[in-house]
Parts: sequence; structure tokens; C-alpha cells
Amino acid sequence: MSQIPVAVLGATGSVGQRFISLLDNHPWFKVVALAASDRSVGQPYVRSCRWILNEPMPEFAREMVVVPATPECIDAKIVFSALHNEIAKDLEPQFAQVGFAVCSNASSYRRAEDVPLLLPEVNADHIQLVKIQREQRGWSGCILTNPNCTSTGLTIALKALNDAFGVKKVFAVSLQALSGAGYPGIPSLDIIDNVIPNVGNGGEEDKVEWEPRKMLGKLNHHQINLANMIFSAHTNRVAVIDGHTVCASLELARPADPEAAEEVLRVYRAPASASELPSSPRPVIEVRSEADRPQPRLDRLTGKGMTTVVGRLRRDPILDLKFVVLSHNTIRGAAGGSIYNAELLVNENLL
Ligand code: NAP
Repeated sequence: MSQIPVAVLGATGSVGQRFISLLDNHPWFKVVALAASDRSVGQPYVRSCRWILNEPMPEFAREMVVVPATPECIDAKIVFSALHNEIAKDLEPQFAQVGFAVCSNASSYRRAEDVPLLLPEVNADHIQLVKIQREQRGWSGCILTNPNCTSTGLTIALKALNDAFGVKKVFAVSLQALSGAGYPGIPSLDIIDNVIPNVGNGGEEDKVEWEPRKMLGKLNHHQINLANMIFSAHTNRVAVIDGHTVCASLELARPADPEAAEEVLRVYRAPASASELPSSPRPVIEVRSEADRPQPRLDRLTGKGMTTVVGRLRRDPILDLKFVVLSHNTIRGAAGGSIYNAELLVNENLL
């Protein structure tokens, strides 16, 4: 197929840079525009952006002149949005209305009933909501969202365990990386030698307690019935650059020993429509058997950062089962996830 023109909104930020890196040589998508704030507009990308990734800035992006994040300034079919919520709230519908497919990392529309909140390896069928969205809003384009980066790995592990044993309650404690706070993020004197609780001033805990219920819910004609699960979350920022760790304890509907749960996670596969896309995680879940894994520094790039890594499955003396899950926050939890969503949209002939 000929390449589909795409643009990145918020291209200079923490997630925007991941988009640039992951879209370099993408087999389906060609980046034709990079957009950011007035601070950057009019400058070549290489001058507007303080590049923070380990790999070099892709050649294609260096001399592209940054444009305003408005539909008139961009000629593409898909826009990847790495905008902050308040900006995304205004801008994303403007794009969707005039025909762009917006694949968003922002939380502004995650709870809207007609907007898919997607992890293709979990709920690829929810993408069908796009049809309702177009009908109801009269848009020729659409908005697709991915969840907050802390819910991502947790929800993927929960999907496998819920299918096998039924999950009734989830108690989760996060250890979240610095890149999740964007660039420049948290001042070094606040985070070195420290752990900061209550990420996002309560907002993150609220997201972790709600977003998995939508993704694990059932598509019922025109709406999603939320999964009947109770969540309790503590979220904490730690001095790790990339990779969110979550320690979780579960109450199950049917008894499961840790070995059986480990096997369920190991053999979990994405739905057929999402298993062979360019960004499909290979494997979806990797189970580590060592007593001290996963660790962010050692495991975050498993499966090119798209694989969810689980370890330390054991009995929980209060609930039933406990484990540790790790997911790369700016790859699987943000830019890589949005690109995977866009690939699913194309594969389902919904672009
Ligand atoms: P960030 O590093 O602060 O980057 C923000 C980007 O938005 C920059 O490119 C900035 O451009 C641009 N921007 C600011 N104001 C703008 C405006 N008025 N118009 C157009 N562009 C504007 O933030 P981030 O961490 O990449 O997060 C981006 C979004 O992804 C947020 O909604 C966040 O919640 C979500 N998210 C982040 C992660 C993560 O792990 N970081 C994970 C999941 C979701 P300038 O450089 O020109 O100012």
C-alpha cells in the first residue's frame, strides 16, 4: 500500500519525541508535519526540540519546520496527539470534524461513551465505536484514545487473568517513571533521593481506578458496559527515567494457583485483528521467573518496549494472587500504543 500521511501534535515533548522515533521508517505511515506551540512554530525541529531519547533524532525530522497545531496547517489523514489535556480538549474535535483520525494520548475524551479507549491486544472490538461516534457527532474523522500509562500494563495482565479466573477486586501500587511527567518534568531536587506520592494530584489514581473498567468492559451495541471490578490505587513517582512498575493484588472469582496464573499470562494472545500489525507486541506478555524481576532498567525494552512484563506471581494472604507488572510508559503506554491503535483503524478499514 502507499504510505498514509500522518502528523504529530506536541512533537517536541516527551511523548512527541517517541512518536518521531517510532514513526521513522514505519511501513504504513509517513510523517508529513510536526506541530507544537507558538514557542516552536517556524523553527526547524532540530532547533525547537531538546532531544532526550538515547537514539539519535531521525534524519527525516531534523529540518522539518514546526507548524501550528491547527487543521488548516496540516495535510494528513492521521494526527497523533501528544498534547496536554486542556489543549487537546479544544483542538482534537476540530481535527476530527474535518476528517482527520486523531489518535490521542490525552485524557480529555477517554470517558466519552462514543470514544474508544483502546489497547488492541485487549479490546480491539471496541474500535467499532468509531462508527457510532461519526454518526452521532457528524464527524468525517474520529478520535481514538489510549489509556494512561499506569493502567496500560496492569490492564493487559488483568485481561488474561480475568478471562481465565474472573477478577473481582484489584489493589494496585504504582512506581512511575519521570518521563511520564513530560519534559522538563519534576525538578531534580524534588525527586532525587525521594518518592513522591499522589501522581497528578489525585488524577492518576482516579484514572487507574476507572480506565481499566472501560477497556475490560463489553461492547453492547452502542455502548460499553463497564467491567464489574473494584479498584483501589496508590500512585507514586520514583527516580526511574522510563518504565512504570505496578505491584498488584487481586481477588478472583475462581481459585487459581500462581503456576496456573503464570501459564495463562504466558499463553495470552491478542485478538486476531490486532496480532499481526506492525506494532503488535511480540509477545503480548513476557513472564519472568526470577525472584527480582521485572526491573525497569533491565526489562522495559522487552519486545521493543511494546511487551508487558510480569513477574513475582504468588499467593496473596489477604486477597488471592499478587504480582508485579512493568510497561514502558512512553512506548507501550503512549506513542507506541497510539500508533498500534492507528494500525488497527487502518486494518479494520475505518480510516
Ligand atoms: P510534554 O513533554 O510537556 O510535551 C507537550 C507538547 O505539547 C510539546 O510538544 C509542546 O510544544 C506542545 N504544546 C504545548 N502547548 C501547546 C499548544 N498550545 N499548541 C500546540 N502544542 C502545544 O508532555 P508529554 O509528557 O509528552 O505528554 C503529552 C500528552 O501525553 C499529555 O496529555 C500526557 O498526559 C499524555 N501522556 C503522557 C505519557 C508519558 O509517559 N509522558 C503517557 C501517556 C499519556 P512546545 O515544546 O512548543 O511547547
